[in-house]
Formats: sequence, structure tokens, C-alpha cells
Amino acid sequence: MSNELRYDGRVAIITGAGNGLGRAHALLFASRGAKVVVNDLGGSTRGDGQSSAAADKVVEEIRAAGGEAVANYDSVEDGAKIVQTAIDAFGRIDIVVNNAGILRDVSFHKMTDGDWDIIQRVHVNGAFKVSHAAWPKMRDQGYGRIIFTASAAGIYGNFGQANYSAAKLALVGFSNTLALEGRKYNVRANTIAPIAGSRMTETILPKELIDALRPEYVSPLVAWLSHESCEDTGGLYEVGGGFFSKLRWERTQGHTVRLGRAITPELVKSKWSTIVDFAKATHPADVAAALGPVMDNVNAGASKG
Ligand code: NAD
Repeated sequence: MSNELRYDGRVAIITGAGNGLGRAHALLFASRGAKVVVNDLGGSTRGDGQSSAAADKVVEEIRAAGGEAVANYDSVEDGAKIVQTAIDAFGRIDIVVNNAGILRDVSFHKMTDGDWDIIQRVHVNGAFKVSHAAWPKMRDQGYGRIIFTASAAGIYGNFGQANYSAAKLALVGFSNTLALEGRKYNVRANTIAPIAGSRMTETILPKELIDALRPEYVSPLVAWLSHESCEDTGGLYEVGGGFFSKLRWERTQGHTVRLGRAITPELVKSKWSTIVDFAKATHPADVAAALGPVMDNVNAGASKG
């Protein structure tokens, strides 16, 4: 098929690719010609233990189908070693899919420092370590695609997931800044918030849903965002079960108090219905746009004063 999206000559690292979503991403990239580093620590969903079996199995699957892949068993916390595996095996790195993840679900009042720390370490520090090691190589070659894996729990909050929600939304801000810093080097960064049946969700979702929400339904978006013909960057996408969509911030028109007047809690209360009214909402897309009304008010105050 002539219009097939191909990744020949590209090298992709997929973290946490021994199971679930990462495995599906790895198989798709490899089937389209990419050389794949299948990273997986091989631990439990809680992050306990370690094994080479998960990554090895996916590498075998890829090779059996005629693709190219190598395994890496390091934790994403040792991201530089994972990038080194790509360089040693294939000589370059073009695509990083930050996908590895674990859960330590517990209601906030019972959450320990350990529950909090390990989640930040794997999701946030892990994505930092892998991306940071790949970044100079992507900049130098003028090409790179980085995907972050957030979650609806981070966007909307979810009971028992304060640690995970914080980590997942951190990745959105992280990705947005890399999108800005990478733009002129043709390094694009995007974030997905997926839903899929996997060992991570099998204890919370009913069996019919697990079967219906196949990880393979998420990977095509990751592949498209990682393709050289996709220019989009700094996006956040919800994806799963055949549904694909993009999210953005929405802001009310708000209320502006001319500077010089008393700004009191009573004033905020009296204007509350306007402050929270989305009828004339806008969608600021960057810090400059977000600061627009603030600067207009400051400048109006300065020109009067
Ligand atoms: P999964 O448990 O099937 O796969 C995650 C993989 O990451 C596992 O193979 C695990 O061994 C690996 N891993 C864990 N810690 C690692 C580390 N430190 N270094 C390297 N590998 C490590 O889960 P999944 O559902 O496929 O989740 C993949 C990603 O998607 C995670 O980041 C998860 O938070 C996110 N996510 C999943 C869903 C969903 O519905 N499944 C929803 C939102 C977000």
C-alpha cells in the first residue's frame, strides 16, 4: 500500500513494552519497519520485582514476524542506559515513547511517602531520564518524536490515585515545554491519555470492557504522532476503544478589576457568577495568550496613572 505510514530507518524506544500498551506500540512500530528497543523492567504492577522475561517475549514476537528489536531490562530511572542500548544496537534514536508505569493506589489519608515517591520516580523521573538522554541526539540530528503517557486520572482526578494523578499531569506540562524547546529542531512532543484493557486495569474494569478496550486501538495514534509527516506538537489526546480526541484548556472570559480599586474577597464574591461563566470562553494556547488580559489591565492602569 503506497500511503502506508512507514518507519524504515527509524529507531524507537518504547519503555514498559513488555506488556499492555507498550507491547502493542512496539509490535506496531516494528511491523512498519522501525528498529525497536523493547524496554521493560519486568516487575509487578506495583513496581515490585524484576525479570527479563517480559521484554524478551516481545522481542521474540517482533523477530518472529520479521522485525528488528532488542531488549533492555533497565528501569526508566536509568534512562541513559536505555538510550545507550539504542545507540549500541542501531546507532541512533528517533522516537521515544514514555510508557512504563506502575500503580500504588490508596486513599490519600492512608498514602505513605513511599507510595508517593515511587510513583513520581517511575512516571516523572523515568520519563525525564529517558527523554533527557535522547534529547541532545534528537536536537543534533534535527529529528525526534517524544510521546508521554498521561491518564484521565491526572486530568480529572480519580479516587485513590493522588500520587498517580499528580505524576500523570506533571507529564503534560513536561511535554508542553519540550514541544516549545524542540520546535526549531524538529523535535515534537505530545501526550496521550489512553484507556485500555491491561494487567493495570484488569482489577478495576469488568472483563467485557477489558476485552473490548484493546491496547492495539491506542497504538495507531502513538504511531501517527511519531511519524515524520506529523508536525503536531504540544498536544494532549484522549484515546481508547476506537475513540480519538484532542483536549485543550478552556478559560472563562473572566472579570477584570481596574487597578487602583480595592480588590477584596467581597468583590470576588460579588463577581463570582461572571468569573466562572464559560459562555464566552477562550482557549489560550500559550503563556503569552494566557497573560493577555493581565497585561492589558496592567498597561491600562499604567497609562491612566
Ligand atoms: P502494564 O502494567 O500492562 O504495562 C506497564 C509496563 O511497564 C509493565 O510491563 C512494567 O513491567 C513496565 N514498567 C514498570 N515500571 C518500569 C520501570 N521502572 N522501568 C521499565 N519498565 C517498567 O500497564 P499499561 O496499562 O500497558 O500501562 C502503560 C502506560 O499507560 C502506563 O504509564 C500507565 O500509567 C498508562 N495508562 C494506562 C491506562 C490503561 O487504561 N491501561 C490508562 C491511563 C494511563
